[in-house]
Amino acid sequence: MSVAEKPRRAVAGLEASAARSAETTPSGAEVSTRPRRPFLLDFFPLEGESDTRLARFYDRLRAGRLSTTRCPNDGEVHWPPRVACPRCHGEALEWIDLPEQGTVYAFSAVLGGAPLGMESDVPYVVGLVDLDGIALRLFGRIEGTTWDRLTIGHRVRVEAYDIGDGRKFYRFRATG
Ligand SMILES: [Zn+2]
Repeated sequence: MSVAEKPRRAVAGLEASAARSAETTPSGAEVSTRPRRPFLLDFFPLEGESDTRLARFYDRLRAGRLSTTRCPNDGEVHWPPRVACPRCHGEALEWIDLPEQGTVYAFSAVLGGAPLGMESDVPYVVGLVDLDGIALRLFGRIEGTTWDRLTIGHRVRVEAYDIGDGRKFYRFRATG
């Protein structure tokens, strides 16, 4: 692809997204849909089987389980989940549930410049969380308290939530 093609492709993506937000059913009835984020500015991944080989992560998240992959050859636990082990390149990975509790390692308040679709959430908190009993430090939104009340060491739990268009993602909720 040449550099000159990129802007045209981006514009085409915006138009396609706008068209999808005004769909009608075969009978002509108007479907009420939220405005879709332009694909290139969409913060969240596509979650379906036809979009990603990691669809099982989102299937499990819909069932309330935060999970990841582990390599049965060398026991390596990956985050984020993988389709191949970065150590041995094996693709026969197994899925494991992750601990639901953790501790805030570091955090920051987003007071401006939020990504598209999150403008009305400002101020909000993002942070790094050490999960209990496993050497994984996850990044994510932290809900359940305000940025000026949160502290390093605060206890949190993982929760799945609907981002507003049927897709699910994970975040943390302060419990301490
Ligand atoms: Zn491996």
